[in-house]
Amino acid sequence: MKKLAIIGFGGAGYCAAAAARECDPDAHIDVYTDTDIGPYNPMLTTYYVKGAIDYDALFPFGSLEEIQKKLKLQVYRDTPVTGLIPAEKAVCLADGTKRAYDSILVSTGASAFVPKIPGWDLPGVFKMRTAADAVHLKKMLEEGKIRSGLVVGASWVGIKVLEDLVERGIDCTLIDGADWSFSIAVFRETADRIQRDLEKKGIKLAFGQMLSHIEQEPDGRLTAVMKNGNRFTADTVAICIGIRPNVGFLKDSGIAMNRGVLVDEHMRTSAEGIYAAGDCCEAYDIQSGEQKNIGVWLNARKQGAVAGANMVGVKREFGGNALLNLAHYLDYDFISIGDVTSCREEDEVYEYEDERYYFRAVRGGGRIKCINMIGTADSNGIVKSIFIKSFENSAAELDVSAVCYLRANGFPESFIEFIGGKIVDRA
Ligand SMILES: Cc1cc2nc3c(=O)[nH]c(=O)nc-3n(C[C@H](O)[C@H](O)[C@H](O)COP(=O)(O)OP(=O)(O)OC[C@H]3O[C@@H](n4cnc5c(N)ncnc54)[C@H](O)[C@@H]3O)c2cc1C
Repeated sequence: MKKLAIIGFGGAGYCAAAAARECDPDAHIDVYTDTDIGPYNPMLTTYYVKGAIDYDALFPFGSLEEIQKKLKLQVYRDTPVTGLIPAEKAVCLADGTKRAYDSILVSTGASAFVPKIPGWDLPGVFKMRTAADAVHLKKMLEEGKIRSGLVVGASWVGIKVLEDLVERGIDCTLIDGADWSFSIAVFRETADRIQRDLEKKGIKLAFGQMLSHIEQEPDGRLTAVMKNGNRFTADTVAICIGIRPNVGFLKDSGIAMNRGVLVDEHMRTSAEGIYAAGDCCEAYDIQSGEQKNIGVWLNARKQGAVAGANMVGVKREFGGNALLNLAHYLDYDFISIGDVTSCREEDEVYEYEDERYYFRAVRGGGRIKCINMIGTADSNGIVKSIFIKSFENSAAELDVSAVCYLRANGFPESFIEFIGGKIVDRA
């Protein structure tokens, strides 16, 4: 009987266990998790904080007990893995013991990055990644003492945390070290529109402000002090400045890593019998052809499922990531498809703006490089799929039904054409 092990039980770990069990009803599967709760979806945490969903809804696959029974797993709760010895096929646990495996998956995800600057651990300073973070923030907000907040990091997580605060009537300032919001994912022009719309909602913005440290005022409030000397004071400070893959425990393993664990299309690492999936890994990116860490829920699930099948000898491949960032907050939405940093001055730029929509797209080297869209939530899937298809076939076109759908949704014809839609006759 094959002995599998899974380190970390989030979306990637769960999907690996489910795929392995489906492909091999007899395999023995050990799961090591550093929590005592089941796999949850971190992207739902802010929805729980704002009361849009119950706590149980964070757990899309059921409770740990239900999963353990359904998938016949041996789950080691509150058991952080501290090391991996590929040559011995052994996993090291925090209590100093070692356990054997035949093949193993690293699916330890990522953690919110909080730099250890003075004041990072003051009461009222918080981050958002885990179910525990969400419970903590919800409790803090329900106590009703927070009237003002600073969100440091105009990021995909920061904007959702901002929404949690603003929807409770909390006066908020959004701060970032970059010169514009979402600076690594959207064009400056898109950010300008996003920022104008945020200001219309009463949110104060402060960009180009690098956080130095946090001080507590005599009245208990917190002051975020910037490297340029600017000071912002509020009742609470959220630090949302990015994530770090949880791979520190692999440092002596010899496994090839960049920021995350490097994997091939089968989710294999450089060490035999060791796989990785989800936010802790860097998988093939279809746009750059390189391995990249693209931390999104669907990737984690797909990669986990591919790894789980391969771990029991059923060959499956992960088709690749594409950079995709989607934000929905305060009745507003925007999406960035593709890599904004791949765009060059000589590329062809498309821009369109009206009250409802904003589009900016760039084409170069015969294909679309990046698309930013505001207000298009209902149509994002179509645009995303033509972008992905264009990497299989640079002449890929939108089909007639897609063109009609976008037209019916009020997309400008010039944009439809720009992204590969032949304009069909209206008659
Ligand atoms: C606020 C927020 C908003 C988001 N919004 C979106 C979105 O809109 N769209 C989207 O696609 N994605 C979004 N994401 C990202 C998405 O949630 C992640 O990409 C995805 O959940 C990653 O799954 P994972 O299984 O790789 O990692 P995780 O869910 O992080 O699971 C990893 C597990 O491993 C455990 N672990 C870590 N180290 C060890 C160890 N040494 N030993 C044992 N266990 C360990 C962790 O505790 C954790 O339970 C968002 C995330 C957040 C926090």
